[in-house]
Amino acid sequence: KKPPARKGSMVDVPQELLAELNTLEQQFAVSGEQLIKISEHFAEELGKGLSKEGGNIPMIPSWVVEYPTGKESGDFLAIDLGGTNLRVVLIKLGGDRTFDSTQSKYKLPEEMRTTQKPEELFAFIAESLKNFVDEQFPKGVDKPLPLGFTFSFPASQKKINSGVLQRWTKGFDIPNVEGHDVVPMLKAEIEKRNIPIDVVALINDTTGTLVASLYTDGDTKMGVIFGTGVNGAYYDVVKDIPKLEGKLASDIPGESVMAINCEYGSFDNEHVVLPRNKYDIQIDEESPRPGQQAFEKMSSGYYLGELLRLAILDLHSKGLILKDQDMTKLNKPFIMDTSYPSRIEDDPFENLEDTDEILQSEIGIKTTVQERKVIRRICELIGTRSARLGVCGIAGVFKKRGYKSGSVACDGSVFNRYPDFKEQAAQALRDIFGWEKGEASSYPIVLTAAEDGSGAGAAVIAALAQKRLAAGLS
Ligand code: BGC
Ligand code: MG
Repeated sequence: KKPPARKGSMVDVPQELLAELNTLEQQFAVSGEQLIKISEHFAEELGKGLSKEGGNIPMIPSWVVEYPTGKESGDFLAIDLGGTNLRVVLIKLGGDRTFDSTQSKYKLPEEMRTTQKPEELFAFIAESLKNFVDEQFPKGVDKPLPLGFTFSFPASQKKINSGVLQRWTKGFDIPNVEGHDVVPMLKAEIEKRNIPIDVVALINDTTGTLVASLYTDGDTKMGVIFGTGVNGAYYDVVKDIPKLEGKLASDIPGESVMAINCEYGSFDNEHVVLPRNKYDIQIDEESPRPGQQAFEKMSSGYYLGELLRLAILDLHSKGLILKDQDMTKLNKPFIMDTSYPSRIEDDPFENLEDTDEILQSEIGIKTTVQERKVIRRICELIGTRSARLGVCGIAGVFKKRGYKSGSVACDGSVFNRYPDFKEQAAQALRDIFGWEKGEASSYPIVLTAAEDGSGAGAAVIAALAQKRLAAGLS
């Protein structure tokens, strides 16, 4: 069954509640004009981040100094520590723009995000890696397997196989890792377990997505993640990255390129252009890192369910919904992950029976049809804003580089699973660039679903790194 029209009929919703819903609509709205302003400011801020003085957006040079040719080949391991899962992947690059992969996924135990012992996190990764290697190579290996470590957090890189964590994002809060290189921490746990592995590259998931999609199809301008966190990567020209001056090996001429991990989740930390509402402010203040990741906190998957929770609680505290319901569960921060707004928007029934079931069995509240319609409408507002704001990073990069068209490889749970996200994102880009209305696939900038960027991309980057090492380049 098809979901009922967005903004489903609200005829039977009481006046007071409708008025409050109108306020919410305004609080979550981002007009076309605002999008233009935001993306222009974005382009400027990206440039600032590349300057010697630096800016708010980290713009981290990745030391990936070439485009893949598509001929990279061999067997590689990748680990992908994202926001929610740990994946271990064996990738066989075919050398002809194709690859095969085998993977295991391990759910990151919730306590791991905030463990007081950083060794526990790296031990968990190494343990998972060991299980995987034992399974895939029961007879052992002749020589150490090259591994690319996809670490999806802002990590400064002096070279390709190192990364000093600038700060945790996405609710992670583990002491004694910020300010340190995470590669030796991982290596120590690998060595303890005698796993035959050589960590050759540290990679951001966005850079991986960019490079993987260039490996398979050659015409990609950006790699973007709309997932637990948000971020993008693109190639810039070395001479346009002033902060690299004096840091480059002599074999890298000014005309060559370097992939940049923007870390644009931190866009507008100084609160100049983003229309923050009271729920955004509350999320920020109650987060382990207030004042950081302003853009991410308004648009990424880690926060969408929390925004919904806060808006529902707000209406409840005004006596407008859920009277006499047991709010114990709903009072718990982050009890609703993105799957809540996502599943509620996906509910195909006129009276939102799926939503009824979800809220009753998982959150312990009984809702009326009207209440569910209101809750569903809030989900739409949150999801729509996420898509509209989300593409401002893409528009910013296109403006900065002067690209008029091109494809953008996208990955992440929100992009892949949030109802209507792709459509709304395309629509928002159209609002920014003023294209004529048409099919999303006919627009000059096309968002495409990436194929396992954080696995395959890590492998391709590991292959590029190995080649440079073998050639005696750093
Ligand atoms: C991290 C980025 C990452 C993004 C998507 C953000 O929170 O800072 O490094 O690329 O999430 O996973
Ligand atoms: Mg990921």
